[in-house]
Amino acid sequence: MIEDRIALIAAARAMSARGLAQGTSGNLSLRTARGILITPSAIPYDQLTPEMLPLIRLDGAYGAYEGDYRPSSEWRFHLDIYLAKPAAGAVVHHHAPYCTALAMARREIPACHYMIARFGGAPVRCAPYALFGTAELSAHVLQALEERTACLMASHGAIATGKTIEAALAAAAELETLAQQYLLSLAAGGPALLSAEEVAAAVAQFAQVYGPNIKKA
Ligand code: 13P
Ligand code: ZN
Repeated sequence: MIEDRIALIAAARAMSARGLAQGTSGNLSLRTARGILITPSAIPYDQLTPEMLPLIRLDGAYGAYEGDYRPSSEWRFHLDIYLAKPAAGAVVHHHAPYCTALAMARREIPACHYMIARFGGAPVRCAPYALFGTAELSAHVLQALEERTACLMASHGAIATGKTIEAALAAAAELETLAQQYLLSLAAGGPALLSAEEVAAAVAQFAQVYGPNIKKA
């Protein structure tokens, strides 16, 4: 349990150190046996200590939490993602520059690179605008995440999920790289897009041949 808290804080600090989050923007959460650990609202990541992380029970009253600090203002979409997606073990939200630039233009990321398959297919959608912290935003996010593990949020930022907090952070960083590459390709005349069959083949290839690389016994 303390390990979960330490891992979440390490990921939060890494998100800042990698330039994916600015100040107190963004938030992260992790599914544990007791419920969801989430970053507290409006506290700089370098000030976090393990006991400061609120815990939200999956079977508790909606909005209830344990801990001394109120949870991220985005607890609704974090909680709703875990309730809707049993495979999600962690959720990372950031306002990283390239994802956010696309989100400001309200553009989705099309099948411009095979790495789109990392997120379940194409496009990586951009959820319609809703005020941060609202149930309306959460509903838009759940729709944008249908059959996907990441999305953008209009005039806001991005969300990525993963089995572990390390995987979710890695996905959030890969999404930012893809957004940067897509924006650059637009300046180079616009990307040629992969077909639906090509994207499906890349999704299958990731599942079949790109697993963990374990040293031979
Ligand atoms: P919190 O500090 O409440 O997590 O809010 C940051 C944010 O990015 C809201 O969308
Ligand atoms: Zn945000």
